[in-house]
Amino acid sequence: MQLAVIGTGYVGLMAGAGFADFGNDVACVDVDQGKIDCLLRGEVPIYEPGLDVLIAKNVKAGRLSFSTDIPTAIRNAEIVIIAVGTPPAADGSADLSAVYAVAETIGKNMNGFKVVATKSTVPVGTADRVEEIIRRHTSEPFGVASNPEFLKEGDAINDFMKPDRVVLGSNSPRALEVLRQLYSPFVRTNDRIHTMDARSAELTKYASNALLATRISFMNDLAVLSEKLGADIERVRKAVGADPRIGPKFLFPGPGFGGSCFPKDISALAHTARTVGHELEVVRAVETVNKRQKKLLGQKIRTHFDGNLQGRTVAVWGLAFKPQTDDIREAPALTLLDDLIASGARVLAHDPQAMQNVLALYGDKITFCDTMYDAVEGADALALVTEWHEYRAPDFHRIKRLMRTPALFDGRNIWDPEELRSQGFWYTGIGRR
Ligand code: NAD
Repeated sequence: MQLAVIGTGYVGLMAGAGFADFGNDVACVDVDQGKIDCLLRGEVPIYEPGLDVLIAKNVKAGRLSFSTDIPTAIRNAEIVIIAVGTPPAADGSADLSAVYAVAETIGKNMNGFKVVATKSTVPVGTADRVEEIIRRHTSEPFGVASNPEFLKEGDAINDFMKPDRVVLGSNSPRALEVLRQLYSPFVRTNDRIHTMDARSAELTKYASNALLATRISFMNDLAVLSEKLGADIERVRKAVGADPRIGPKFLFPGPGFGGSCFPKDISALAHTARTVGHELEVVRAVETVNKRQKKLLGQKIRTHFDGNLQGRTVAVWGLAFKPQTDDIREAPALTLLDDLIASGARVLAHDPQAMQNVLALYGDKITFCDTMYDAVEGADALALVTEWHEYRAPDFHRIKRLMRTPALFDGRNIWDPEELRSQGFWYTGIGRR
């Protein structure tokens, strides 16, 4: 099939490469000339494990191309996939200006039946609006669909190639049939395609993210309680997750959730609810707990040093919002960095992939270190924010020798408190004894 994927960010690049890998001809297009130039040079503008190899393979096979010529890509396509960003607007709603701009370009370049599928996360009712905008510019037939994306950054290839479910929402039976054909090679072992109307598909995406975020905030809230009560949240977590009705995933307490999806999506969902006169109380609490949780590590560090970080050096390990990505959007590490800088601390930071992105925001306000051990040299405290593999079992003897005062703030509960205390470290985690 001939596809145009509009927007070459995390989602558009993965979708473009994934569909091409299954034999489709895919034109990936974007307004960002810099990004397209980078892709044309054979570089990948983001870090996503394995994506560089997948892109190179499909470009070489002639099935995947990159361009800023959006009109031509649309005219050549049977299926147009919208994968542009939907960042948060000032009032918490999703900013749909890019989606609507693309809809207009599609309308102006219609030349026969096309399916227009939105992969971007968009509020309920957006498919109707996209249809209206396209219709204003053309009398050609088309079908609009919602096809929300559920991939996880860091494991995007696996999620995309072997999806747990494919959600297709449209009021056009023809569009649903075309998209079913597109996805059938991805779900050969058993049919995991859920078809529905566009509004239900749009809501499914928000419901999924809101529920996952709820589990995290629930556990973060309990972690704070656990610490006050002298319980160990890690033991609680494992036993609670052993109930098959609950399951072990997304129960990890931590420094609050970040990323390009959960924070903006729950805020947009709450906003949508308000527009129809409904207050999503649970979602509001999830947001409140998360904002509080993001400040917890900074508070713990300040409390440890009697409220005064002047003259103190703090090492921060992990800046990306989670491991295996360079994405720092809404990352809890940024809240910590702001807090430490405002408190007068000197910050030494390390991350295997995200330092360039943080450098672009913070410049020389913090010191970026080539290795994780460089970051702890002379430090009074080490805060672990993102649980990259290499931070899981570091050389603690070396760390102890390098630090000025060996205080550990384990934001992901990945280290053994008893073992570290026996080695002479001062240790605190999230909700642990
Ligand atoms: P991104 O910011 O990485 O990429 C968006 C791309 O769209 C950018 O390259 C930008 O230049 C391009 N763009 C913006 N306006 C454009 C226009 N008018 N025409 C053409 N291109 C344009 O965003 P992302 O992380 O890939 O997310 C895209 C959408 O997918 C969002 O709605 C997001 O919520 C959703 N989503 C993201 C993930 C994820 O893990 N990142 C997962 C599921 C869903």
